[in-house]
Amino acid sequence: FREWAKDYCRRNGLLTLSVLAVMSGCVVGFTLRSLNLSTQAKIYFSFPGELLMRMLKMLILPLITSSLMSGLSAMDTKASGRLGLLTITYYLWTTFIAVIVGIILVLIIHPGTGTEKEGHKAPGGPVMTSADALLDLIRNMIPSNLIEATFQQYKTELVPNFKNSEKSSQANFVYIMPDYENPRMGHPVFLELTPPPEIHYKIVPGKSNGMNVLGIVIFSATMGLLLGRMGSRGLPLVNVCLCINECVMKIINAAMWYFPFGIVFLVAGKILDMHDPAVLAEKLGMYFMTVLAGLFVHGVILLPLFFFLFTWKNPFSYIRGLLQALVIALATSSSSATLPITMKCLLENCHVDRKIARFVLPVGATINMDGTALYEAVAAIFIAQVNEYELDFGQLVTISITATAASIGAAGIPQAGLVTMVIVLTSVGLPPDDISLIVAIDWILDRFRTMINVLGDALAAGIMAHLCRKDFQKDSPTSSNSERVR
Ligand code: ASP
Repeated sequence: FREWAKDYCRRNGLLTLSVLAVMSGCVVGFTLRSLNLSTQAKIYFSFPGELLMRMLKMLILPLITSSLMSGLSAMDTKASGRLGLLTITYYLWTTFIAVIVGIILVLIIHPGTGTEKEGHKAPGGPVMTSADALLDLIRNMIPSNLIEATFQQYKTELVPNFKNSEKSSQANFVYIMPDYENPRMGHPVFLELTPPPEIHYKIVPGKSNGMNVLGIVIFSATMGLLLGRMGSRGLPLVNVCLCINECVMKIINAAMWYFPFGIVFLVAGKILDMHDPAVLAEKLGMYFMTVLAGLFVHGVILLPLFFFLFTWKNPFSYIRGLLQALVIALATSSSSATLPITMKCLLENCHVDRKIARFVLPVGATINMDGTALYEAVAAIFIAQVNEYELDFGQLVTISITATAASIGAAGIPQAGLVTMVIVLTSVGLPPDDISLIVAIDWILDRFRTMINVLGDALAAGIMAHLCRKDFQKDSPTSSNSERVR
């Protein structure tokens, strides 16, 4: 028995601890809710969880840049071109399938029918459109400043248009406005609010906090391809990247022992912060179940089926090796933050070729979000049903395309999908304000869709490793798992 216990702990100890940590986090969170802790106390309490998120986020930048640069530099142009094309095609195809699953389920279940809803105001003034989102996507692909891209991304936003506001309600209020030409730099301070002032908004290309992962991925992939073509002249930089990569993996190995502890506080902290669960009214509950059912069908049936059809291997024994990453995705709601763990699981448990994992995973964590796409389509149609707004076939097609695009544009951070859903809603004339209908339960759904996002990337890496195995066998001896810094 001792032998068995030792072996079990060595192989599954961390995973078991992480699962227990999620459960304990829920119990602790719900127990402490009744104590009505002050905001300050909640911040102190959540601190170990905050540290966990910080550790993971710290590793994203070195991991993505070093993985892509060293991974692509080691491939010949033909092999990398084929891998790139297959990966992107597979990603788009599975995301689109996820959207279709979501649409079919929400049309069958009809969770929004019969919901009593307060009459909503038609959106006044400008609203963000799909074109704005598309421009943001392209802007993010070409960051003007790489250093800035590590902490900011481009994001079009609605900002108060002070000049108009001043004209329209001058008599009613006074405001202090720091900078006329750059309205994002300050917000009006209203000194007299009766009757409430009417603020005019305008759409401006802005920036928001958060790493521009897409820009960094594109830059690093380009550098990697070019380094590969430089031959021996590129080797010093490739070696630096390989060293960084190895160090990051070592840090992850050490940090893993902290994760179960951090997860307890991360999950409990979130539960302490959430709104009253009573908001889960009947229809919202149905919507919740619809999204979950869609994620289940896609993640447990379709994605494994694709994996099986492409590789003829048992998808569930492959997924077993990914459980640690899935638990971290559940705990963090961020596929970018989970990336280091996904990489570790793929290399150590699933034995996927390093070069393939180094390309497929960072790209997937940035653009492949099946769970998010599915949820966006369901949410948009749910909102239409609540508004008793009949969607015709053309509008359903529009939703399927915009939900796919919106998921590509969403960053791998908590609740990014909720923000990009504005694109889907406006594309079919639904009020973006109605996001408020689903916001209360979004944080829970976010955890499950992030798991599916991570699962989709990891299964794709396994499929690509199988499809491109011949390219890589003949490619170079460094493609084996025993790759060493040259
Ligand atoms: N949280 C998700 C992720 O990181 C994105 C989203 O759907 O909000 O993959």
